[in-house]
Amino acid sequence: MPNKISVLLPVFNEELNIEPIYSAIKSVFDALPETSYEIIFADDGSTDHTMAAIKKIVQQDSCVFYVSFSRNFGKDNALMAGLQYSTGDALITMDADLQHPPEMIPELIECWKNGFEVVYTFREDKNQHAGFFSQITSKLFYKTVNRLSDVNLENGIADYRLMDRKVINSLLQMNENNPFFRGLLKWAGFKQKGIPYKPGARKSGDTKYSTSKLVSLATQGITSFSTKPLEFAIYLGFVFSFLSILYIPYVFYSFFSGVSISGWASTIVTIAFFCGLQLMILGIIGLYLGKVFMQVKQRPQFIISETNIATKK
Ligand code: UDP
Ligand code: MG
Repeated sequence: MPNKISVLLPVFNEELNIEPIYSAIKSVFDALPETSYEIIFADDGSTDHTMAAIKKIVQQDSCVFYVSFSRNFGKDNALMAGLQYSTGDALITMDADLQHPPEMIPELIECWKNGFEVVYTFREDKNQHAGFFSQITSKLFYKTVNRLSDVNLENGIADYRLMDRKVINSLLQMNENNPFFRGLLKWAGFKQKGIPYKPGARKSGDTKYSTSKLVSLATQGITSFSTKPLEFAIYLGFVFSFLSILYIPYVFYSFFSGVSISGWASTIVTIAFFCGLQLMILGIIGLYLGKVFMQVKQRPQFIISETNIATKK
């Protein structure tokens, strides 16, 4: 039975969390003697002492590896880099802030051994450690992505998951600019199982997701998986054309009854409304055009400045 597990941690300015998460993962695997493991830190261009903390551990433990980016390329790209360098029969991705409980690792592995190729987790009820605003935006995020795209994401689905080597290889073949992992995995299929978890409190530091980063993640989630927003323009066009036909009898009535149609204000409001609508639709088209632009340039998704992994798999 093959059983080497890779644990992949994307880290961005997590200097105080490196040692605690490493110790927690290590003690989990120490209790699983039949399973070998490697821990890969994917440093997403940290500007604090994260790399120093990682290198300290690397010196003591030969199971620990790192890839370090030349700047911040985003969490999903960090995950992609880690996948390329992993050698395990299965791989577990988790956040480095201890919000994803490492004690669940044996359960994930158990499900994998029972034949599931993707074992993902989702937040049980609500995240008590998140503020009111972030709870609302998180709900809104899943609702909007599900409504507008062709993949269906469970509410609170997390980046804490186990993937079989087969799944990793299929993800590595996708040459997607700005990968959106949660969606890609649903899209890819395979035998999947979801298990609930209770998120812990962030061990140290603040969330790395500002509101603007979240908004761009949501747009990415929608535009990566669907062209539904583009259909909006057609529907809106039909609706307003139909409404304007209904207006014709009123024009005739006014003409024959000799009542002139007045209404400078309503004309201006109508013009402003439709200008706004057109700009909005242009913006939506622009979003997709932007994605095409980025994809055709075929730039690398990330640049690695440093790693202790000798050969790329
Ligand atoms: N992270 C990253 N790059 C980024 C933002 C975040 O690698 O640009 C990492 C971060 O270090 C952490 C994980 O992604 O290990 C989740 O981030 P965070 O805890 O800030 O997200 P939240 O739990 O607030 O959704
Ligand atoms: Mg977190």
